[in-house]
Amino acid sequence: MTDFRAEKSKLIEALQEGGISDESVLSAIADTPRELFIPETFKNHAYENSALPIDRGQTISQPLVVAKMTEALEVHNRHKVLEIGTGSGYQAYILSKLCRRLFTIERHRLLMQQAEKRFQSLRAYNITTMRGDGGRGWPEQAPFERIMVTAAAEDIPPVLIDQLTVGGIMIVPIGAVEDHQDLLKVTKTESGIDVEDMGPVRFVPLVSGLPTGG
Ligand code: SAH
Repeated sequence: MTDFRAEKSKLIEALQEGGISDESVLSAIADTPRELFIPETFKNHAYENSALPIDRGQTISQPLVVAKMTEALEVHNRHKVLEIGTGSGYQAYILSKLCRRLFTIERHRLLMQQAEKRFQSLRAYNITTMRGDGGRGWPEQAPFERIMVTAAAEDIPPVLIDQLTVGGIMIVPIGAVEDHQDLLKVTKTESGIDVEDMGPVRFVPLVSGLPTGG
């Protein structure tokens, strides 16, 4: 098996240069074998700071974006966290190292099955998965202290705000077209929400309903 140690420490340096300073986030990323989350063909690129294609036309996010979103989520080890858009499972696995329980939803059956295998082999027993439409959240498990959406919604989904605790944080890319998306940090307050714009990003769209045939 290839030893990615040198590539990995270069990536961690790149994340620090990119403005990531939270040690718990940096060590969660350093402790995660990204090569296990990507298709065989791209394994040599596992520690480049770039997004990569996965099955079903989806992508595993760029490590710097994963790090920024994770840092902005301010995850604590007592938190119950929901992720929408499991994809490869990479972001979910990183979050699971920082929180108490991680729930994650994916609409593609194949991606969900692949991610579940990875979680099992990595013994990530605090992750619970569901194949479904994440736009509806996970009402049976709500409320969540933190929610991360890893596909771009057109507007902040009110259903997800409902499933957040007061004081809870949601990170969500918003924008109808792919080259006009902004990452928002939404904090639920007693009276409504506070929204902070974290700048432009590029995500695959949040698609409602389920694909036919998995
Ligand atoms: N977090 C992923 C990156 C995901 S890409 C990772 O770390 O690899 C976005 C994912 O969101 C895709 O897998 C896509 O299928 C999924 N997705 C899009 N719309 C969805 C929806 N409504 N419900 C659940 N998953 C959705």
